[in-house]
Amino acid sequence: MESIQIAESIAGLRYSVIREMSALAAGMPDVINLGIGEPDFATPSEVIVQALADAGQGHTHYTASQGDPELLCALAERLSNELAAKIQPDSILVTHGAMGALAASLRTLLEQGDEVLVMEPHFPDYLAHITFAGGRLVGVPTRFENGFLPDPEMIERAITPRSRVILLNSPNNPSGAVLPEELLDEIAAIAIRHNLCVLSDEVYDQILFIPEFPSIYTRPGMAERTLIIRSFSKNFAMTGWRVGYCHGPQRLVENMLKVVNYATACTSSVSQRAALAALRLNPAVFAEMTATFKKRAMCLVDRINAIEGLRVHRPQGSFYLFVDVRAVSRNSREFALDLLHEQQVVVVPGYAFGKSTEGFVRIACTSEIPRLLEAMDRIESFVRGRSSSSAT
Ligand code: PMP
Repeated sequence: MESIQIAESIAGLRYSVIREMSALAAGMPDVINLGIGEPDFATPSEVIVQALADAGQGHTHYTASQGDPELLCALAERLSNELAAKIQPDSILVTHGAMGALAASLRTLLEQGDEVLVMEPHFPDYLAHITFAGGRLVGVPTRFENGFLPDPEMIERAITPRSRVILLNSPNNPSGAVLPEELLDEIAAIAIRHNLCVLSDEVYDQILFIPEFPSIYTRPGMAERTLIIRSFSKNFAMTGWRVGYCHGPQRLVENMLKVVNYATACTSSVSQRAALAALRLNPAVFAEMTATFKKRAMCLVDRINAIEGLRVHRPQGSFYLFVDVRAVSRNSREFALDLLHEQQVVVVPGYAFGKSTEGFVRIACTSEIPRLLEAMDRIESFVRGRSSSSAT
């Protein structure tokens, strides 16, 4: 087996740090896992029942590669309302999760060596998707002190003749930051000035703790160069069904369709029926999940900020907190591993989210409040232990 040659681009990729942390915790007694990036809620039973009923009615064949026609129509209606524009079903593509849309868009947009500007901290998987497409990730650092919002000047300075794409994620995994309208205007102006395409990863758009979600798509001139990427995974507690979708310029979507066609043929037919059922369900069901995430997040922010040496911002969306642990440790891997071994709490070390995010850890609010508070007690003991040992 040693003689089998593995492509350098793949051999050089590291395994997911998030999965690695969970694997290390497997088998340990009484572990509290704050590393899990998926809702702890089950998919609503109405969705499951309807999907299975539809399967019984024959929705078990390949669908069109673009997606189940009924789902495309329902998504067009939803997007038209949300974006105050007339969105046609044929400008939408249903994909194997948002991952499918990320992979297909990057493959469609990039030539070998092209650059993608990614704001840090970022969803770790972007690196792999850009690498698979032959591109290069160019990180744009942000600062805790600035609420993890990117500085437009730094974005512009990172642009080279090889830049093709700006990849945004709002609400952000892991920081919970939402890009405000004025900043979106500035980023839009940069994209237009340099003729860049924008991939707007909005998979947490409904898990929002502020009144409005502004999308860069709605800025003047941006509908022609923005691909919105969304998903049923987080908003609808449907991670395992693997349904995402995207909408953007017709020429981009038409070319991405070739990638989806050859890579996956289509998204699972039964899962697409489940997605349709979720869209037809009373939105209050999902709003309640968001309210629960908000309650948990706000409760934890106060608790974390009361621990000497830790600090965290109030998130505006998603279900994550990105905690500054630099006063305790500048090595997030060591912090996470020691915390796991000493207190059996899983957090995700910050280095997974970009070169500039060392000294932070990500916490997911995907457990009930008493369990989250128990984890905070353990983290406090851990931090106190470290402070007292460094004082001696
Ligand atoms: N983008 C972000 C920011 C994410 O956090 C995730 C999932 N963790 C994805 C995309 C992928 O989502 P999906 O399950 O729809 O593939």
